[in-house]
Amino acid sequence: MAIRKIVKYGTPSLREKSKEVHKISKKVQMLVEDLYDTLYELNGVGLAAPQIGENLRVFVIDVGTDPKTMNPITFINPKILKKEGAINSYEGCLSFPEAYTNVRRYKYVKVKALNIKGKPFILEAGEGSLLARAIQHEFDHLDGVLFIDHCRNRFEADRILAEKGLPPVDSNYLLDEKDLEEEIQNNPQSEEKPVD
Ligand code: ZN
Repeated sequence: MAIRKIVKYGTPSLREKSKEVHKISKKVQMLVEDLYDTLYELNGVGLAAPQIGENLRVFVIDVGTDPKTMNPITFINPKILKKEGAINSYEGCLSFPEAYTNVRRYKYVKVKALNIKGKPFILEAGEGSLLARAIQHEFDHLDGVLFIDHCRNRFEADRILAEKGLPPVDSNYLLDEKDLEEEIQNNPQSEEKPVD
């Protein structure tokens, strides 16, 4: 068990596609423990393995806000089965200290993954909940996609990144999400809770 150093935005490994886990070895179990130790230490909502320097398809989420409502969920080799709806999500990321901006997300996701025992499970999260948005955020990390790639206003995002001493948005990674953007504008509903 250990609190690990967070890989910061600008480090090339954050843009790599992570590898599938073939066996839930002792090493993978320790990686998951380290993810939780680091997540709780930094009061985050979610943390993906590439953020602690391990390019493996693993992430953890806990949207519980205090020890009484703790709800740790471990995702190994996750697959997104379905995504629907659109919502504005005001997000941050532990790899982008103190930088928050508005991004586009789906309202609902259905995901399949393995738990720490290697057992498959299916989870649905909807209504633009923190869990639904956190799953999309952490899943992206496994493909080298970062929350700023979904930003609704590139200039606003660049301003915030510059304020925090981080590199600007990289246009090579900006996602074309015209349909999502249109749907968000037609259904104004904004969640202001930061997601890590
Ligand atoms: Zn993140």
